[in-house]
Amino acid sequence: MQLQHCRFDLALRHHWAIATDLGRGGGKSVYPVVLVDLRDAHGRHGVGEASPSSQYGESHETVARFLAMVDPGRLSFDDLPGSLAYVESVAAGNGPAKCALDIALLDGAARAANKPLCEFLGLGPFAERHHLSSFTLGIDTPAKMAAKTIEAAPYPVLKLKLGSASDRENMDAVRAAAGGRRLRVDANAAWTSKEDALHNIEWLASLGDVEFVEQPMPPSLPTSDWAWLKARSPLPLFGDELYQHASDASRCAECVHGVNVKLVKTGGVTRGKQALEAARSQGLQTMLGCMIESSVLISAAAHLAALTDHLDLDGNVLITNDPYEGVRNRGGWLSFEGVAEASGLRVRPRRVG
Ligand SMILES: [Mg+2]
Repeated sequence: MQLQHCRFDLALRHHWAIATDLGRGGGKSVYPVVLVDLRDAHGRHGVGEASPSSQYGESHETVARFLAMVDPGRLSFDDLPGSLAYVESVAAGNGPAKCALDIALLDGAARAANKPLCEFLGLGPFAERHHLSSFTLGIDTPAKMAAKTIEAAPYPVLKLKLGSASDRENMDAVRAAAGGRRLRVDANAAWTSKEDALHNIEWLASLGDVEFVEQPMPPSLPTSDWAWLKARSPLPLFGDELYQHASDASRCAECVHGVNVKLVKTGGVTRGKQALEAARSQGLQTMLGCMIESSVLISAAAHLAALTDHLDLDGNVLITNDPYEGVRNRGGWLSFEGVAEASGLRVRPRRVG
């Protein structure tokens, strides 16, 4: 097997900031990812992507360092369990790099089987006109958030990042421009006590158009604080930073009503599927989310949509230079209709010009 990887800088349509960026220089306009290509002696190939997040101490350099340690001779499209066990044994952590390899191995194996990934995984055909993703608004000034809300007119569900000193002004500006659209809120762990979180959630509930609140508090707070908040919250709570792997499912069932699974956090589609199934077995609602990502990662996640109640797979519509084409986003509705590639992730490099 040959393993090639390269850095690719995704260009954001708008400057991007979330609560955890505010103390660290205030966000970014370019988001480096790492694209991975596996090719075997039979000419079969698969592509993957790592979208490393500084929030978890990852970068394109940590991804490249991990990939340099991988012996491609130990990877095979014909032995996924053996290949993935080897990747896991290379070093601990490194979810984004492991995610890229997992996706590339699955893409190659599903292409070899001539099946779309969802069918290769036993999840049946992708359900068209069924999966609606939210569209995310990063933290900005109230005027810019209002402008972004108007620009996002095609999207019926908006996810608003909160956790700055201007939360109330930002919420007012977005609601005035949203025209009654459904709103979801993600505080990215910004509210540091259960009392502070409850106060904010009660305000959000009083507005009448907020559907749920994601990650109101830091994941490091005791489970008892989370259980206190869950018992009193007038809106459903979702854990994102709180839910890294399937093994966190039982704690999350005490803390929140649902979880947000991301392939980059769990280490790929294989473990993302396990994390969704573990959450459901604990009675949790499920959401699939993303980082800033190209259509490689977004398409990979879309193949797991059958295991979710909500989707937040908009990373590829927040950028202007997607190097791949794959699953389409039409006003938030995800669709593979008209996509030329029929098997694997159903992605191919975008023709330029
Ligand atoms: Mg989140």
